[in-house]
This record gives sequence, structure tokens and C-alpha cells, in this order.
Amino acid sequence: MVVRVSLDIALGREFDYLVPAMWESQVEVGTRVRVPFGARELLGVVTEVRPTSDQPGLKPIRKVIGAQSLVTPRVLDLARWIAGYYCCPLELALKSVLPDAVRKEEDGWRERLHVTLLPLPGAAPKLTARQEAVLRIVEEWRDLPLQELIRLAETTPATVRKLEDLGLLRIAPKVSERDPHAQDVLVPSLPIPLNPEQQAALEQITSAMDVAMAASNSDDRSVKTPPADATASQTFLLHGVTGSGKTEVYLQAMAHALKNGRGAIVLVPEIALTPQTVERFKSRFSSGPLQTLVAVLHSHLSAGERHDEWHKIRQGRARIVIGARSAVFAPVEPLGLIVVDEEHEHSYKQEETPRYHARDVAVVRGQREGAVVVLGSATPSLESYHNALRKKYRLVTLPNRATEMKLPVVRIVDMRQEQSRGGGPPPLFSRRLVEAITQRLERGEQTMLFLNRRGYSTSLQCKKCGYVAGCPNCSVSLTYHRNAQKLLCHICGHEEKVPSKCPGPECGDPGIRFSGAGTERVEDQLSRRFPKARLRRMDSDTLQRKEDYRTVLNDFRTGKIDILVGTQMIAKGLHFPNVTLVGIIHADLSLHLPDFRAGERTFQLLTQVSGRAGRGDVEGEVIVQTFTPFHPAIQFARRHDFLGFYDQETEFRQQLGYPPFNRVALLTLRGRNEDKVKFSAEHVRKWLDEKLASWPGTVIAGPAPAPLAKAESYYRYQLMLRSPRMTKLSRDLMMLHEAVTLPDDLRLTIDIDPASLL
Ligand code: ADP
Ligand code: ZN
Repeated sequence: MVVRVSLDIALGREFDYLVPAMWESQVEVGTRVRVPFGARELLGVVTEVRPTSDQPGLKPIRKVIGAQSLVTPRVLDLARWIAGYYCCPLELALKSVLPDAVRKEEDGWRERLHVTLLPLPGAAPKLTARQEAVLRIVEEWRDLPLQELIRLAETTPATVRKLEDLGLLRIAPKVSERDPHAQDVLVPSLPIPLNPEQQAALEQITSAMDVAMAASNSDDRSVKTPPADATASQTFLLHGVTGSGKTEVYLQAMAHALKNGRGAIVLVPEIALTPQTVERFKSRFSSGPLQTLVAVLHSHLSAGERHDEWHKIRQGRARIVIGARSAVFAPVEPLGLIVVDEEHEHSYKQEETPRYHARDVAVVRGQREGAVVVLGSATPSLESYHNALRKKYRLVTLPNRATEMKLPVVRIVDMRQEQSRGGGPPPLFSRRLVEAITQRLERGEQTMLFLNRRGYSTSLQCKKCGYVAGCPNCSVSLTYHRNAQKLLCHICGHEEKVPSKCPGPECGDPGIRFSGAGTERVEDQLSRRFPKARLRRMDSDTLQRKEDYRTVLNDFRTGKIDILVGTQMIAKGLHFPNVTLVGIIHADLSLHLPDFRAGERTFQLLTQVSGRAGRGDVEGEVIVQTFTPFHPAIQFARRHDFLGFYDQETEFRQQLGYPPFNRVALLTLRGRNEDKVKFSAEHVRKWLDEKLASWPGTVIAGPAPAPLAKAESYYRYQLMLRSPRMTKLSRDLMMLHEAVTLPDDLRLTIDIDPASLL
């Protein structure tokens, strides 16, 4: 027996190996193997089993890893599609379908040494600072693998043993699973009776599932490519306003999958994967006849936790998976349903190779495995809505909130007027916002204030010579962080001391000015204005440990915080009944990004943020502060009018040939020498021009400096291709790497369907 193997290093090709007779029964497509390669041994995945090979001098594989193949043939097939469509080598596509912790594992389940906290043996012994620090981590976790403790505490086994000698903890081998939510207490939840719109949505989805299941049960279960029009019979766009009860529809559709012996995957944006969300899914399936484990996959899991969650799925013990982007590859079999919640979210796009979009991968996976796909959003992406209007997806609408609560009233405050009154620079808070906050504090209701920019101020400028503190590595200005007393680059992390006078050449003027507010300044000014209010700020500067997020949200829910200030972190999926006011400090921020999706993003953001208000008994109010009150994105968001926005925005997209009317491929060249980058970009353009005739309708723009012209000391040039069809184009672009020889110190990336043009 011969196997074809894709190795873990990106060589862009596969290699054949012999399988010794004793392993033949264990090796199948998807098995991980260790093979000789030159003088080394490498790990790889079996992509094909064949009787013979035309490659000469085959070597035998050295080892079979794990008792079960890790990549199922279906997921392998998906990886091949990703490699082809997103222009990357199969090795890299395969790398992202398996979590690292699973890929690197050599011996399957292993007994690990676990550290367990013991009750205090009488009087607390005197500890060194180091021992104290290690013990505190054990106290926090109560039980964790020794290796992880060593990593977390940056300590040595000897230090841990010393604590064991003191009787404070125990070290013992254990094959236990790490369940990140083991301590959660789940209150079982029952399905809620649906309203007529929800019921209609559910019925359409479940009957599509019945059709899809009947079709795939009758075939021979081999992977096959469905007919091209197959999407419309099984991809749904569920357009429902915030609070319309989409999640309840997902839950009941998932129950339908389980009833029919199938599993389901729910994707949510990383940032919305809160304990609250996870609990909702876990409690529904924690008991009753459909009881199953719910596996959770996200980036804050330790390697060990991720390994265990993944295997629970592979072994079929967890039939429901909830996770961020990469959970779309979870080895659920057979798969009945994939839900992509907040399908418009840009975090579904991976910003490194393979640059896949999890929503689009979900649609392809659903087609190939006979699973129904439900894309849900209050503000669908223009691409998905366009697909629904073209009948590529089936459109289902939930126009009203599920409970009595109304959508909040959105008030637009024109900050230009605020500015003119006093004469000075505009205040951070309009009078209207200050009044509204005061009222909430008096009534004991809660407020969320939102500004999508962290730090204290976004630039430091000299009034006299015009000097602006910029990053030496990137083409952006440095942000002033007052608590940390630093100037910081948000792109590369470069830090500088805060100057007391202008550092500009031959200036030295003391009159430097900080301008452009961030969340730190909002917090600061708020505490002066409302000295008695209990404030918390939530952004990536304040959340250093994984528990912080939980703590802040719990404090907010239990009413220990009056006003929560934050970045987009607080915009998504949170549900707090006592929040009756949401303030958006500077709605224009995302409007002026150099990206054709700037308006769409602003509309989505405003709608999502507004959705946080008035989720309880009291009607909510949203105050939007802006300098461009008549911008369509702001006006349509004020009226909760998605269709109005869609019509207006698609007109502009059509005129310019942007998505959803065309697809985009973005090529970026990076290098330290600007002239070289520019020259090579022009060279790439020549190659594209020669090919152009074979891509009907395709338009090429550039090369031009990228909007972020320099990042981490690399200059960046871009070319943009717009084309009505992508499949052939991306197949050809794959050849670009070989066809055009670039200098060694230059990097070319190809981004198909980019989410951001920066
Ligand atoms: P969405 O996911 O669309 O934002 P949710 O599913 O979170 O909406 O629902 C919002 C609230 O309405 C939740 O508290 C949910 O329990 C409740 N809800 C959903 N469907 C119903 C229903 N049919 N009857 C009563 N309450 C419902
Ligand atoms: Zn920088």
C-alpha cells in the first residue's frame, strides 16, 4: 500500500510513501503520520491511499499517529477547496483545519501530571515571593496540568515540587479532560414557544434540512460535488432585527438536527463568544432526550483545553460545537446544520494565510456535506443580501423584536453646533448626552458609552512647529496612553516616553497638545463630571487576564457599575436588561476610513451598538454624536432601515464595480526598500496585463501605495483586481508566485475577497 502525504512544511507538493503491512489497517485518508524526509523526520497528513506510485525509491512511513484519523475526508476536501480558491498551498490550508494542539500530538491521549490545590494545612507556611506567585495561580485554577502551570507561572518543576513538599498542593498523573467551563452551573432551559414569524422561519429551515438529509442519506456518503444551483435549496439568510429571537430559532433548528442523528456547528464572532452566549447553548442541551456535550472552541483556550474539546467532537461525544472562525472545520459527523451568527462580521475573515472567510467556507461545507447553513444578522453584509435577492440564498425575515420591548429611539446630535457655542474645541459630551446620563444615574439605570479608539488621545502635536509624534516604523501617529505614561503605536507596538517639550528639530517648544480622544479620556472626563458614578472602562488595555472580561461583565450585570465605557468590545451580543442608554461618542470614526466598506461598517456598528439599549422593560435611548449628521449610514441607522441603506449603498457599489457586483482580489507587496517594492509591483502588473484577456470583465487598479503605506518598517504597495468571477482568476493567481521572480526580501500576499483594504 502506498500513501500520498502532505507534509507540515509548505512545499507546494505532496510525496508518496510505503505503508508497512502491519499498519495497513490503521492508515486511511486523513491519518497523521511521521515520515522520513531527507535527513529529517516530518509530520504530515495522508491525502490519498493508492495501490502503487510512479515516484521512484519510496521510503516507508515511520509512525502512525493516533488511533483515529484526524482529518476526515470531508474536511480534507474542504481544505483542498480553500487552497484552490484562496490561493495557498494545501499544507497551509490543512494547518488551519486542525488546531495546533491536535496536529502536534504524537501519542494520542496521554497521562499528564496534574497539579491540584490542597486545603491549607493549619497555619500558612512562609513562602518566597516566587512560590507565592505560583501558588496564587494554582488557587485560581484549582487543578491544572503541571506543564501549563510551569508555562503560566514561568517557573520550574522544582519550585512546584517544593510547594508539594510543604503540603499545599498535590502532583499526580491524570487522564482527565480539561473543560474550560467545568465549574459552570447550568440551569436547563426549555424551548420557548415561537411567535408566528419565528415559527415560519424554523419550518423553512427544518424542511430544508429534511430534504438535504434525505438526499445525502441516499448517496454512498462519498464526497461529491453538488450541482451548481444547490446553494439555494439549503443556505438561508435570516435577517432579524436585534432581539428578534434569532438565537431561539437556531436552538430549535439545532434540536431538529440532533433528533435526526446529526450534529451542528454555531459560529459566533470571537468577541461575542461570551460566557453568556455559551451558557445559552449549553443549558439547552445539558439535559433531556437530546442531551449532548457542547464543545467550545475559541482563541482563549489553552492548548490542552483545545485538544480535549476537539477530541470530544471527533469522538462524537460533543455533537454541538460553538466557536469562533476556525470552528467551521470542527469534525462533526454527520453534520446537519451550520449557523453563522452575525454573518456580516469582519472577524470571520482570517487575516493571514490561508485568508479564508469562515462564512463562505461554511456555505461551501454545507453544500458538500448536505448540511443546511443559516446566516443570521440584523445588518447582513451587502454580499449576502445581494445573494438572497438573486435567490442564491433563501431570505427569511424577523422584522420585530420577540418580546414587547421596542427598538430604541435613536437621537442624532450635531456636534458642529456644540462646537460653535463656547468657541473652543468641541466638548467630548454634548449637553444632551450629559442630561441623559444624569437622568439614568438618578433613576438607577445603566449606561454604555462607546468609542472605538483606546488610549487617552490619538495624537500629540506641537502648536508652534506642527511636529506630530509618529511611529518610526509605521505611517501612523502615536497614541498617548496616560495611565501607562507612554506613547504607543497601535500597529507595531513601538513605545516612547512622553516628551515634556516638542522633540521636533530645533523647536523644543513646551506647548505640545494632545488631541483626538480615546476611551481613557472618556473615562477621565466622565469621572470628573459624575464623581459619584461607578465607572468601568473595558478595552484591550484594561483586560489583561482572561478572567477580567467575565468579572467586569458580571459586575455590570449585577448593578455594581453605573456606566460602562468601552471600544467595540462592548458592542456585540451582550444583553443587559437595565441598560437604557447607549451613547456613541464619535460616530464618524469609521466613516472616514479609506475603504469602500466604510459606510457599511458604520451602519452596522451603529445598529449593533444601538441594539444594546432597551432590552428590558424600559424603552431604550441611543444618542449618536456626529459631525456629519446627514450621512446616509447615520440616517438609515437612526431609522433602523436596513433596506433603505442597502438600496442607496448598492447604487454606489454598482457604479464603481465593487462587491457585491464584482469580486475583489487584493495583491500586496511588502519590503523594506520602497523603490524595490514599487518596481516589483509594476512587474506584477505587467504579468497581470498579459493575462487579462483570459479573465473577461476584469479590471486592474494600481500599483499604488496601500492606505497603510508603511507598517512595521515595511513599505506596502497594492494592486486591486475586480472581476465578476473569481474561480478561474484565483487559479491563475496561484501561478503568480512562480511566474514572477521577486527579490528575496520582498513578500507578495494574495487576498481573495478581502475584508479590509488597509
Ligand atoms: P437575537 O438573537 O435576534 O438578538 P434573542 O434570541 O437573543 O434575539 O432574543 C431576544 C430575547 O427575546 C431573549 O431574551 C429571548 O429569550 C426572547 N425571546 C426569543 N423568542 C421569544 C418568543 N418567541 N417569546 C418570548 N420571548 C422570546
Ligand atoms: Zn508602529
